[in-house]
Amino acid sequence: MAPKIRHPFALVISSLRREKQDMPKVALKPPKSSRPGAAKPLSADAARHFIAALARANPDPRTELRYRDPFTLLVAVVLSAQTTDAAVNRATPALFAAAPDARAMAALGAEGIAPFIRSIGLWQAKARHLAELARLLVERHGGVVPGDRAALEALPGVGRKTANVVLNVAFGQATMAVDTHIFRVSNRTGLAPGKTPRAVEEALLKRLPPETLRDAHHWLILHGRYVCRARTPECWRCVAAEWCHFTPKTPPPDVKAATARPTPPRPPRRRVRASPIARPR
Ligand code: SF4
Repeated sequence: MAPKIRHPFALVISSLRREKQDMPKVALKPPKSSRPGAAKPLSADAARHFIAALARANPDPRTELRYRDPFTLLVAVVLSAQTTDAAVNRATPALFAAAPDARAMAALGAEGIAPFIRSIGLWQAKARHLAELARLLVERHGGVVPGDRAALEALPGVGRKTANVVLNVAFGQATMAVDTHIFRVSNRTGLAPGKTPRAVEEALLKRLPPETLRDAHHWLILHGRYVCRARTPECWRCVAAEWCHFTPKTPPPDVKAATARPTPPRPPRRRVRASPIARPR
């Protein structure tokens, strides 16, 4: 069979995607309303009340990624980079059935993994990372996911955020994985302002009560995903609004509609007469 010829533009796009996946993590750019410094930091007391309000609303928070054990959790978190948890959950049941552990995943290889994750963004790079990650897990750790940050971050496709999620969810450590939601909520509300994800992570670890750290990462992600949304935070139904510095608070949709200024009617269009001057032929 003749080799498949790829369009040069497709080659450029795939190499850019590869670079994006492999490049080191940089500071996330927050939306305008949540720029660092937009809100002054909450007092220690207000920060405690803020997180306690989220805790009361959801006493037993869980990650929305589906997994069975530390290995499947690690795979799901690697796949979730720049993709929604829902998209990952649609792809992983078939992948985990075919490769339930590191040995099986390493045997599958990148070409065997790829068909299961084609619906996920950056699937080519992720397939390569998963194959290599599984091979190294077998080679270095006997196929067992290590509960150690340095060992986790030495695996391909695993950065600080992924390691934090695995250490928190699978090993019960008080880590804070700062994703785009936590970064936005922390800056917008004044809970833990910081210019980079690392600065926000350190501020949260310092400011939140130690007994809340295990679950705080879930509370903040879910709060940012469903209530304190990026474009329009739903302040009218926010359980932590009393302790948040963001202003003005978003009113309920019906109040917004009632107070909205009516749009003035457009003036009728004036018809433009054709010029009487004949065009030269
Ligand atoms: S009051 Fe509004 S801005 Fe503040 S945390 Fe709640 S939803 Fe977010």
